[in-house]
Amino acid sequence: MARTSRFPGFYNVTVAERRALVGDATGASPSDIERALEGGGLDAETADKFVENVLGTYALPYGVALNVRVNGHDHVVPMVIEEPSVVAAASNAAKMVRAGGGFVAEMDPPRMIAQVEVRALTDTGAAAERVRRHAPELLALADRAVPGLVSRGGGARSIEARVLADDIIAVHVVVDCRDAMGANLANAVAEGVADRVAAIAGGRVGLRILSNLCDQRCVRVTCTVPAGALATDDMAGADVIDGIVAASRFAELDPYRAATHNKGIMNGIDAVTMATGNDWRAVEAGAHAFAARSGRYSPLAVWRRKGEDLEGRLEMPLALGTVGGTLRVHPAARLSLRILGVSDAQGLAAIAAAVGLASNLAAVRALATDGIQRGHMGLHARSVALAAGAPSDRIERIASMIVEARDITLEGAKRALGVLVAESGEGATAVEVEE
Ligand code: NAD
Repeated sequence: MARTSRFPGFYNVTVAERRALVGDATGASPSDIERALEGGGLDAETADKFVENVLGTYALPYGVALNVRVNGHDHVVPMVIEEPSVVAAASNAAKMVRAGGGFVAEMDPPRMIAQVEVRALTDTGAAAERVRRHAPELLALADRAVPGLVSRGGGARSIEARVLADDIIAVHVVVDCRDAMGANLANAVAEGVADRVAAIAGGRVGLRILSNLCDQRCVRVTCTVPAGALATDDMAGADVIDGIVAASRFAELDPYRAATHNKGIMNGIDAVTMATGNDWRAVEAGAHAFAARSGRYSPLAVWRRKGEDLEGRLEMPLALGTVGGTLRVHPAARLSLRILGVSDAQGLAAIAAAVGLASNLAAVRALATDGIQRGHMGLHARSVALAAGAPSDRIERIASMIVEARDITLEGAKRALGVLVAESGEGATAVEVEE
């Protein structure tokens, strides 16, 4: 049965009802979902095996982005994030993209770079050339460091040598990591070949570790959005397209704007990275290094008019795994892969990048129309209502009262709560209202 990611009215139902809907659509039963997410999915005893000096765990909201269609397939996409509005905005933008057929994604093979630095060289050009000539021997040596990976169809693919200074070269072993993120695998390769590399080059071994600038593991996502899907109550779709294209140009011209533009992309990508137990620092490091590759920090996604439609394009390195690392032990991370319906690393990267492009579209569309605050503050109002002590059945009502009053503050929420309490005749004993 083809999966769906369309659940109209999903935000209006209870958490238990959402679990049932997602369970039905993905084959993860509500009890599986409850068990995997109970207490944030991790108890202190298990956490103690992850890192050092553990006192406990720290939970974050786990939501799902809807309407996401990538390469013709629907995916319900788990997102772990503390920032209000990101999940809603990604779902909303994915719905607009869906109107144009969904996202189209293309991935490089899952190739990571293992670096060996060689120091104390006298002729770096000749040293680099010698290393290149010994590529077949070095590739075989690299494969011997990761036999498990080789047996799964991965392994060393190419050798590169780059001159960095008069006395230093960097030798890269490009490793196909299959479904792993690959940091430990690449490190094993770097350590496995380092002595021989230095001997061939005629220098001394320096550092041996992966590079997080995994620019041979890029994902490219495009989408075409019809003007009609972008229109707002006050703006025609064609004008929204003009605004979004202008917003893209601003980011292309200005690193200060590009940083915030890319932050919006990473809202989506980091949230999927975290939900799937992947290393978001590695993803962030790769993304920003790639954004600066021309010498000037640039946007990872750009937007152009294409006939009557809007076209978005994202390109960035994305090292995500579906095996190894935290995935082995975190039940919520394993649940996320089940909900997503992906088992391979490239499929996961395609979906995460699509959610990144959706997050970017939501932000640039809001900026080009109402400004970012309207939608953002509407959702922020719910957490303000919660902080003001509103009971769960009154949060939505109080949030809309403070949005209408343009007073999204703790005091405003407490006043609104006081009004509701007075109207219901519960008296001040039911809820403490401070003025
Ligand atoms: P890993 O060490 O768990 O290695 C993956 C394992 O899975 C290997 O033993 C491999 O043989 C096995 N495997 C099983 N099925 C596979 C398949 N289909 N494809 C590929 N391998 C398969 O994990 P890793 O991915 O090498 O490293 C990821 C971890 O390294 C993350 O936890 C990350 O935080 C951490 N790390 C990151 C950095 C960095 O980014 N700078 C540095 C060090 C460590």
